[in-house]
Amino acid sequence: MSATATIYVDDWSSRCPHCGAQTLPQALTHDRVSGWLPGPGCGALFTAIASGERPVHPDVLAELRPDLPVADTYIDPAARS
Ligand SMILES: [Zn+2]
Repeated sequence: MSATATIYVDDWSSRCPHCGAQTLPQALTHDRVSGWLPGPGCGALFTAIASGERPVHPDVLAELRPDLPVADTYIDPAARS
């Protein structure tokens, strides 16, 4: 049985936290590692989408994946101290 994971989206890349490798933000499951070291992914089923290390607005995430719930990890840059 495959694991589930949240897609973490940054400005120029998306990451699968289950295995830590890159993924395409459009992937339904982590079947392929994208980016510099392409290869087979860990197979995790993506069940949500969230900001990575850099905040991405929830509207952008929802537009990217209207089929997935947006996990609440967005931090408004203006709210950062
Ligand atoms: Zn993975």
